[in-house]
Amino acid sequence: MNINPVSILKEHDLKHTKQRVRVLEEIALDSVAISQPDLEKKLGKEIDRVTLYRILNTYQEKGILHRIMDMNGTANYAVCTSSCSEDHHHDEHVHFNCTNCNKIYCLEVEAPRIKMPKGFTAKTVSSIAYGICEKCNAI
Ligand SMILES: [Zn+2]
Ligand SMILES: [Zn+2]
Repeated sequence: MNINPVSILKEHDLKHTKQRVRVLEEIALDSVAISQPDLEKKLGKEIDRVTLYRILNTYQEKGILHRIMDMNGTANYAVCTSSCSEDHHHDEHVHFNCTNCNKIYCLEVEAPRIKMPKGFTAKTVSSIAYGICEKCNAI
């Protein structure tokens, strides 16, 4: 994934502070999602938890990141594709949680649409598949 944190921040009218750039850089580094504990481990020396939390929330609100909960209830973050924007934040692809390496992948597979019963408004629907990923299957 080729991501330029500075231009993404600009696009979303966010001031590019050093910390914001670092967080985005770290998340965009890998094509798989990164877990919050891993982020804290990697950035702990530069960014305190509260600030990190705030940055992650802003990014979610702006449609820059999306959050995926893994099977242990840990939050993972991945950069959104261009289909997300501030007023139309959706995450319509399927996620894959490998039960072997515990990584979360954003799959380029469209999530099934679920029809909500009358009176229910779904804001986020997440589709997550569990199993063995490509890399682990190859071993
Ligand atoms: Zn795996
Ligand atoms: Zn995703």
